Amino acid sequence: AKVLLKVENLKQYFPIKGGFLGRTVNNVKAVDDISFEVMEGETVSIVGESGCGKSTTGRAILRLDEPTDGKIMFDDKDLLSLNKKEMRKKRRDLQIIFQDPYASINPRQTVVEILQEAMEIQDIVPRKDRRKRAIELLQTVGLLEYQADRYPHEFSGGQRQRVGIARALSLNPKLVICDEAVSALDVSIRAQVLNLLKKLQREFQLTYLFISHDLGVVRHISDRIIVMYLGKIVEIADKKSLFENPQHPYTKALLSAIPVPNPDLKKERIILKGDVPSPIDPPNGCRFHTRCPYVQDKCRSEVPELRKTNAMLDTHQGACHFMEEIESGQLQPN
Ligand code: SF4
Ligand code: MG
Repeated sequence: AKVLLKVENLKQYFPIKGGFLGRTVNNVKAVDDISFEVMEGETVSIVGESGCGKSTTGRAILRLDEPTDGKIMFDDKDLLSLNKKEMRKKRRDLQIIFQDPYASINPRQTVVEILQEAMEIQDIVPRKDRRKRAIELLQTVGLLEYQADRYPHEFSGGQRQRVGIARALSLNPKLVICDEAVSALDVSIRAQVLNLLKKLQREFQLTYLFISHDLGVVRHISDRIIVMYLGKIVEIADKKSLFENPQHPYTKALLSAIPVPNPDLKKERIILKGDVPSPIDPPNGCRFHTRCPYVQDKCRSEVPELRKTNAMLDTHQGACHFMEEIESGQLQPN
């Protein structure tokens, strides 16, 4: 498979203005030097607690916020080198679905009008065919033809998310970024929408970047998973390795908090102390050191790079100085 998206050394800092001249006095380092790739047809998830930088990463890829630094290669094009007009054109290939589709749709338009408008902006379907195409898309996502002329408020949350998905699909995208796209839905509806996303992926050869705080959801949908903490990637692996052989103490703690399908793998719940520190002045060295049960002196000064140990598959990397010692039991929780 081909690399569809390649994010290199992405940084997203948001300036904090202050003082008498309104100078930038500091930065929120929401994303701080992350790199990863997404292959065509793959579903890669970014998981982490709120404030870890996962949504910021999605927005930066689409240039909804202009990245501070780094490179974003999409389909062999450098997105950050495109001017506004070129980027607007490119946007049909990269769509985003948010948690609440209501926030991004016009409540005074019927759902068929919402889809027609999306096609009009990008001018991709001849005007006379747009209504027909919109209705087909609504049917593809599980809605019925007679619902096409209804307004968003007449739909349930799950149905509205289907409209949001149909709107994204109306532009024939290659990559769909789903930012907490099923988080607001009831468990049973959530499973239906996830299954719909999987079906659409096969039908339309879609690639997904799936952003979620919910490891249960991520387990359902992902091929590979990126774990973020405080603006950094701490672990990246295919789904099976991540769930069965997590190597970073933060990933271990996250996984210990969700129910396991296989009771043999049941581990004790790891309770982390304290809260996630502020991204304004993130801790030196390993950003997780203020909460890590295994913290050593080195962790407070040296930044751990992503790397692979002998216990990991080639596709698996973690950013911790002491993965070997933790794995062997030589290092015990403090
Ligand atoms: Fe914990 Fe140190 Fe590893 Fe960071 S580098 S996760 S503080 S052991
Ligand atoms: Mg978010």
